[in-house]
Amino acid sequence: TIQPLQGRVAVVTGASSGIGAASAEKLAGLGAHVAVLARRADRLTELVDRIGKNGGSATAIPGDVTDTGALQAAADQVAAEHGGADLLLNNAGVMLPAPVEELAVDQWKHQIDLNITGLMNAIAAFVPQLVKTGGERGVADLINMSSIGAQNIFPNFAVYSGTKAYVTHLSRHLRVELGPKNVRVSALEPGIVGTELQDHVTDQGAQDWLAGSKDTIEWLTPQDIAETVGFLASLPPRVNLQQVTIMPTAQP
Ligand code: NDP
Repeated sequence: TIQPLQGRVAVVTGASSGIGAASAEKLAGLGAHVAVLARRADRLTELVDRIGKNGGSATAIPGDVTDTGALQAAADQVAAEHGGADLLLNNAGVMLPAPVEELAVDQWKHQIDLNITGLMNAIAAFVPQLVKTGGERGVADLINMSSIGAQNIFPNFAVYSGTKAYVTHLSRHLRVELGPKNVRVSALEPGIVGTELQDHVTDQGAQDWLAGSKDTIEWLTPQDIAETVGFLASLPPRVNLQQVTIMPTAQP
């Protein structure tokens, strides 16, 4: 039987844990070759081994998405080895909520540098390939990881949510530009998903808020989001889900 993503070449940033790792496994399970990017090379190697044991195909490309040179080298490698990517899951990100008056400017900068500039670096490196493969193969996908924070208001999430509002709005614009070139653009907006994302939070109030949420709400799993990523990529080429919000049932 031919798998839905047979012959496709996917790149997943932030693939060493959480949503990125689960999505890489899902895309490989559907038949795509998957190039996985993140900084932790050991995690990527474990992921590639796991995908291989399950009958899939993957390549580890360790690197930092805030480094434009590293991303361009990754793009060159994907082009040389697989003829270019036809799917980018632009997923690497960090969430550091805190009251604005704490003036945690280093954390503001970290979120902006990764969630906005890092995402743009991956776009710069891979959109030329998506346009080329979209033209040749009839469909390519740019899936940007946004958040429900792009839509709803949560206390102390202003900077993070601002970066994700950027991602959602950018995606809507890019969809109009790239759709006519057979590149589908989607923004995914998950509610809360249990991953390492929460482990990086340093503000005590935000930690307490997250702990309270975990006690009262059954959080989504990375696999829940990966299912949607696989679904988007498997749709007929004429169908583009512009924006998908995925919430835990009990999250307001
Ligand atoms: P994780 O912390 O588990 O994953 C984040 C990934 O980003 C890791 O693989 C990390 O790998 C990678 N990363 C971090 N910094 C860099 C960098 N400079 N260069 C390359 N990769 C980097 O969290 P999630 O899986 O939850 O997060 C994935 C995305 O989903 C993020 O954009 C997040 O904002 C979004 N999201 C998450 C939600 C949630 O509740 N969990 C809800 C809505 C959206 P490494 O450290 O090895 O580089």
